[in-house]
Parts: sequence; structure tokens; C-alpha cells
Amino acid sequence: MRIRSVDAVHLRTTLERPFSFSQFSYTDRETMLVKVATEDGRTGWGEAYGPAAITAATVREFLGPMIVGRDPGAVESLWASMYARSIDYGQKGVLIAAMSALDIACWDLKAQDAGVPLYRLLGSEPVESIECYWTGFYFGGEEPLESRWEREAEECIDQGFHAVKMKVGLGVERDAELVGMLRGFVGSGCNLAIDANHAYSPIEAIDLARRVEPHNIHWFEEPVSPLDAQAYLDVKAATNIPLAGGECEYTRFGFQKWFDARALDYAQPDVCACGGITESMKIATLASLAGIHVTPHVWGSAIGQAAALHFYAARPRQPFTLTPEAKLIECDRTENPFRTEIVETPIGLDGGCWHLPEAAGLGIGVVPERFEPYLVGRVS
Ligand SMILES: [Mg+2]
Repeated sequence: MRIRSVDAVHLRTTLERPFSFSQFSYTDRETMLVKVATEDGRTGWGEAYGPAAITAATVREFLGPMIVGRDPGAVESLWASMYARSIDYGQKGVLIAAMSALDIACWDLKAQDAGVPLYRLLGSEPVESIECYWTGFYFGGEEPLESRWEREAEECIDQGFHAVKMKVGLGVERDAELVGMLRGFVGSGCNLAIDANHAYSPIEAIDLARRVEPHNIHWFEEPVSPLDAQAYLDVKAATNIPLAGGECEYTRFGFQKWFDARALDYAQPDVCACGGITESMKIATLASLAGIHVTPHVWGSAIGQAAALHFYAARPRQPFTLTPEAKLIECDRTENPFRTEIVETPIGLDGGCWHLPEAAGLGIGVVPERFEPYLVGRVS
């Protein structure tokens, strides 16, 4: 089996309900998908996190030509050669995200070739579903957050979720007020995490952590700069709330310093950004050496969701105990048609759990004809 062609597809949609978080506002959603086609007529799909025009150009101009003519099943070799060629220019960021998309597409082909769902190829026994947490409770819009979040909390509980994540970053006073309010809406039995998207200095993050500790916070995500592991350690020393982070980190080389420093309690690699399936598996292994939980950051289309789910299903919980903490994976509930409209079989969501795809490969049945209303550009 050899790769005949690599396509990059840029999709965009304008949101009916724009939303904001501590760093900026979303008025549209976009993504970059790659199609890797083989000489014998099969196709594998992958997705990159981040600015789609840039990751598309990276695939078109730089990485794609590097893997045409090669065996897509040789995922380790392809990853190593792409990274070796990139290391002088892009050890992190969009270049690694573009590599991630190609790596995911090659794993899709490899699992199709083996005739099994990807997570089975990665070494897992059959898994029916994994519990997920509701990522929502964003800012923005005309309506007061109080009434909007109350409705969202009801929707979330009605759908059977037992875990939610809310945004913080509006200032410590306001955040503390909103955390208390949401805790009241979802009840004491619901798992509640907060995410600052690195809005705060260590002093502010510690202040917020101490104020919300009585609300039994499952984790405090990206409290401070993703460039500063010492700032995480400072916050960690001052609160009993576990810290999560890693969506802005890339490759095993990037994650190693966080694990060596024990700066995280939950590592959140994004499979579509950190280096694909190949690298996510290595990052999770490194995390296991430090006894750090891994729970992937998930923000993409059905392709990115499937990639994260297959990866996560294949990983054992850490540390090893008879009753390990249950897996919990991110379920983005903001508006995004790419989770449902471009595939034959969207990831099943039921009772607050994601169901593992049963078909071979990623197992979602990408339908390129359905890209049309969203197409910004296709390059090959
Ligand atoms: Mg986050």
C-alpha cells in the first residue's frame, strides 16, 4: 500500500450563536481536514487544530509531498521523517498540528487495512463507551450569563451528563460568583471543572482557586501561562484543586518538562495538535511514568473527536489501582456542524457518554460531498 495523493480541505461556518472565552470571541468555526489516498483506492482522514489556512498550506507545500509514494502503515517512520525535516522551523504549533492530521489519516488507513476500529489496533479490548464532560458555559451574547447558564445547566443534566466544565477569566470576583452559581445549578453530585485559558497571573489564579475550593472543583484548567511550568507549580502549592493543562503543548519533547516537574495533575494533549495518534501514545506513556492522568483536549470535527476517542480508549488509567479514577473525555457542546454534518456516522452521544465507533479505522464515514456549503478551499 502506497500513498498516491494528499489533499488539504479548509472548512468554515459562520456561527448563529457567537461565544467568547478569556482570550477572544468566536464568530465562526473552521477546520482543516486532510485526505490521504492510496494507490489501491482507499482513503484515510485526519484533522489539524489551529488556523486552517496555515495548516492547509503546510500540508500542501511542505509535509504532503514528503509522504506521497510511501507506505501509510509505516506511521513511526513517516512521523520521524516529517519531524526531522521540520525541527529547524516548527518544533511546536501549526507545523506539528499539520503533521498530526497526516498521522491520524495514516492510522485511519492502517486500522482499515487491519479491519478493526482504530482503538482495537492500538491495543484495547472492546470498549462500548467512555463518559464525557460537557464543555460549555462560555461568555458573550446579550443575555445575562445567569439566565443563559441556568438553561444550559438544565439541558446538560437532562442529557444525562454528570460532569461539566465552565469558563473563568472575567476577573476573580466575577468568576467566584459564577462558579458558586453554576455549582448551585448542577448540584453537588455533578463533577465541575473550571478553565481560565491562561487568563491569570499566579497571584490571581491562587486567589481564585482559594475562593472556589469550597465548591469541590474537579480541576482548574490552564490557570496561568502555558509557557511557565513554575507558575503552575506555584499555584499547585497553594491550592488543593488539581491542575490541568497541555492543550497548548506539543510532542513528547514539549510534555516532558511538565511531567518531570510534576506541574500537572491532568495532562490534556490534543491529538489534532500534539503530533497525532503516534505522538499522543508516547505522551501518555511519559505521563504514566509520573503518575499523571491524561484526558485529551477535544475541539474538532467528528474526525478529531474520533481520533481522540480511539486514542483515549486504548490507554490504561494511571496510576494502577483496583479502582482507578474513571476516564472522562471532553465533549465540546458549542455550535459546530462539522461534528455531525460531514460524516455518515457521527460519534454517538448518549447519557453523557460517547460511544466508540464500531466500523474499521476511525469508523465515522467521512462524506466529502457534504463539505460543499463550508468549503473555503481545497488544495492538493
Ligand atoms: Mg481548555
